Amino acid sequence: MSSRRVAVIGLGRMGWHMAAHLRRADHTVSVCDVVDGVAQRWVDEHGGSAFVDAAEAANDVEVVVTSLPADRELLTVADAILPVLGSGTLWIDHSTTSAESARTVHGRAAAVGVGFLDAPVSGGVDGARNGTLTVMVGGEPADFARAESVIAAYGARVTHMGSSGAGQITKMTNQICVVGLCQAIAEGLDFAETAGLDGSKVIHVMLQGSSASWQMANRAERMLAGEYDYGFSTTLMRKDIGLVLEEAEAMNIPLPVTAMVGQMLAEVTAMGGAQWDWCSLMERQRRRRT
Ligand code: NAD
Repeated sequence: MSSRRVAVIGLGRMGWHMAAHLRRADHTVSVCDVVDGVAQRWVDEHGGSAFVDAAEAANDVEVVVTSLPADRELLTVADAILPVLGSGTLWIDHSTTSAESARTVHGRAAAVGVGFLDAPVSGGVDGARNGTLTVMVGGEPADFARAESVIAAYGARVTHMGSSGAGQITKMTNQICVVGLCQAIAEGLDFAETAGLDGSKVIHVMLQGSSASWQMANRAERMLAGEYDYGFSTTLMRKDIGLVLEEAEAMNIPLPVTAMVGQMLAEVTAMGGAQWDWCSLMERQRRRRT
């Protein structure tokens, strides 16, 4: 793989690891985060150049990789970097945002000769740390072809889903399919424990049966242990559910389970769990029982 000059903007729970994989893959990496000291901390560990200003980080790079919280931050970064990116630059955005914002930035980027891909991910912080993320991509096929070798540093399964916004719509589908599942696991484990069964043994058995899932394999034990201090925050999942419900309303599609879990996560937030992993639905389930 040829070495490129890459700027990574957003060194949060996901972006930190993505940047590290890009560095290990021998790219020249400049990193940026708005929180003072974060980029420097990354550079102290991995090398490269640190910036607080996104435009400075993106100056004279061939590829920009962003991993930002939501739409607002994506649009802020677009305002900052599009004026400095050279024609032919590739921008791969791994944030989960609305499809509308993805299409807006895609249009603005195209106007200055920049190829923009919406490329949200699934697989959690462990997936980012281990370089095994699933990546769903929307945008021009030619830009996707250019991006594949870059994303390969941290993506194990990378799929072009269609035109701009298609990556975000795929990610929303993923969230619709997973939200009810996590609540179902919380209910099942609560049920089994209350009935006097050994929860770990139940998980072991279910992983060999028809209710096995990624969520069961990667989250159920931690739910049993009441460990929520990691991963994908309740706040971020509520943001994703908001995006999903808005898109579904525009298409006149009812999503009752998704909407209900959104309400439950509002209750988790009120319990103080805004930054807990969203599988803290288990905590809500337990507290309602007692
Ligand atoms: P995070 O909040 O930990 O990280 C986001 C980072 O972006 C923060 O460090 C923040 O300071 C930085 N940032 C915000 N505005 C900025 C700006 N204008 N310029 C530079 N940096 C800026 O979030 P995360 O958990 O790493 O998630 C990032 C994205 O990936 C989100 O859209 C999330 O929905 C999605 N995602 C997260 C997970 C997960 O398990 N955490 C899994 C799949 C998808």
